Amino acid sequence: MSLVETLYRTRNLSDTELTTFLTTDRFDQELFRMATERRREFYGEDVYLRGLVELTNYCKNDCFYCGIRRSNTLLDRYRLSLDTILTCCKTGYELGYRTFVLQGGEDPFFHDDRVIEIVSEIRKQYPDCAITLSLGERFRESYQKFFDAGANRYLLRHETADAEHYAKLHPESMNLERRKECLWYLKEIGYQVGTGFMVGSPFQTTECLIADLRFLQQLQPAMIGIGPFIVHRDTPFHLYPSGSLSLTLRLIAMLRLMFPYALIPATTALGTIDPQGRELGLRAGANVVMPNLSPVEVRRKYELYDNKLHTDKEAAENKILLANSVAAAGYATVTDIGNVKPDNRQQKTTPSCSKTQ
Ligand code: SAM
Repeated sequence: MSLVETLYRTRNLSDTELTTFLTTDRFDQELFRMATERRREFYGEDVYLRGLVELTNYCKNDCFYCGIRRSNTLLDRYRLSLDTILTCCKTGYELGYRTFVLQGGEDPFFHDDRVIEIVSEIRKQYPDCAITLSLGERFRESYQKFFDAGANRYLLRHETADAEHYAKLHPESMNLERRKECLWYLKEIGYQVGTGFMVGSPFQTTECLIADLRFLQQLQPAMIGIGPFIVHRDTPFHLYPSGSLSLTLRLIAMLRLMFPYALIPATTALGTIDPQGRELGLRAGANVVMPNLSPVEVRRKYELYDNKLHTDKEAAENKILLANSVAAAGYATVTDIGNVKPDNRQQKTTPSCSKTQ
């Protein structure tokens, strides 16, 4: 049996075998073929749409890779009002989106009561939609309150599952244990949890990527978002190279075989490093796209990295362009809440939901 077949059947490989996979392109063709087969088995041709609303580019954190980090004084900061957020959702709903993703920097202005007000209002107006939050690390009680107000999904990338690597990407005030703790809390509360990591971030080794895959095996998240690290000129990492398209695509295909049930986006970062990145991500096994619903005038200000896509296909209004690019990859966008598919085999093997794991 080839290594790809083993991964397809067992959804697992040894560290040595994963290293082989990650360090050569010689399995790529077979890998992409099998990943496509698995993806079609679970999700057919469907590509789910998530309308992304970027609430705020203020952030109290100072992650070394991120363009909206606190220390970037060159950035023009903004916050969206409740009315503006609701207008974004209305536009999205009319375009056929049934999931709204509210993302932002860790901005104290969006304290618990404010988030609850936003979530409750969206829940009231759009009872048939999923509400996803991506607002960083919060207390368990806050996550619980947001859930009770109607949020059902939460995205929080772990960024890297190697503690030493984590410390090289973040200031001392942040640590991997806290990040993981948040993810376990979210899972315990009942959110559909999304996590993920950047590919090719400075100091990342193959061992770091294996640690990422092992952590995902423990957490069994509903959604896995990965994208290349992309340099931002006004961050401490401005001299480092961006991550590679080919390694990101290979990892997407590996994730599809290891977590066949997962919702995996073809991310904006992928579309930014290569004009065909989104389509290639879908061909590699991704099944979600997250077009931008934020007001046009703030899009360029949510600049996590240089040249972040904020026009053409990225703009939610360009529905036809987006549908065409998804069709070019051999798939079709659907108006559907797009829940994670049940996976009988996963239910038998998933570790119980405990943060001690
Ligand atoms: N504050 C929330 C959080 O920490 O999850 C959400 C916003 S945060 C800016 C969203 C994601 O952007 C991060 O999880 C990170 O992986 C990604 N990101 C930030 N800077 C990046 C860069 N230079 N290249 C690629 N992705 C980046």
